[in-house]
Amino acid sequence: MGLGDRHQKKDVEAALKRAEAAGLKVTHDKNRHRWGWVICCPCSKNVTVYSTPSSQGEEANKIDQFTGKHRNCA
Ligand SMILES: [Zn+2]
Repeated sequence: MGLGDRHQKKDVEAALKRAEAAGLKVTHDKNRHRWGWVICCPCSKNVTVYSTPSSQGEEANKIDQFTGKHRNCA
């Protein structure tokens, strides 16, 4: 992710960093509600990341679960 692509919720931002560290692609689009996606390029699955999730802990867990499932795809 480039500068200015940080998620405003720090738990979610931390989970996005873990996803990137695991080799997944994090894409930010400037949609109001949808912050972007975490993408597993080898199997082309993805998970949507919301800008203002009702629970940032649950949003972070969702990302961590996706990362755990896909970190070994490559
Ligand atoms: Zn995968």
